[in-house]
Amino acid sequence: MNSSAIPQPHDSAIPQSPSYDLVEVFESLQGEGRNTGRPCVFVRFAGCNLSCPWCDTDVKRRFSASLDDLVAEIGQYRPKSVVLTGGEPTLVDAMPELVAALKRRGYWIAVETNGTRDAEWLQFTDYVACSPKAEFPESLALARADEVRVVASSEHVAQFCRWVRGRIAATDYYVSPCERDGEMDFATAKAVMSELDGWSLSVQLHKLLGFR
Ligand code: SF4
Repeated sequence: MNSSAIPQPHDSAIPQSPSYDLVEVFESLQGEGRNTGRPCVFVRFAGCNLSCPWCDTDVKRRFSASLDDLVAEIGQYRPKSVVLTGGEPTLVDAMPELVAALKRRGYWIAVETNGTRDAEWLQFTDYVACSPKAEFPESLALARADEVRVVASSEHVAQFCRWVRGRIAATDYYVSPCERDGEMDFATAKAVMSELDGWSLSVQLHKLLGFR
């Protein structure tokens, strides 16, 4: 996903001074996928349209910020790379304005999505990581991404991975261990990997190293 064009707000439904519901903004290293190790500012938006049984992500709104305040908050950190994550960032109506504001300031922008909603603004970002969920195959809507990451929540996920590979065109495909009660389930991830060709293991490096 890459474009030199900067998106312009085109939808009259988008308010002039949008507000963003957020869980947290913080700096860390990307811990998963092809960009593992890259210093980034993570912007976690509140709310998700799925309810994965093993989800350990806090998606409750902690605070709201205006566009200007959010961009200023991001600018307080050193990295010029931003990860828009959640929750589910494609639920955020005013994302085109945020993407445009960050692009004007020269940021590299990655998005982490569950793939249930396609969004025009995704094409103006630099990297899309799609993590479709085997528990909700009927909700998959995204057909293209830079990387796909599937959580190995059971040994049956290998079949889902093969199905996903035919649905989403991507450069890299990853299997991620499922974390339950703070423990990484590497055994199931290994079992899933043993049934697949062309998939790589992606561990949550930031958790193994004790980063946020
Ligand atoms: S899509 Fe992600 S944030 Fe949403 S419930 Fe599933 S694991 Fe949690």
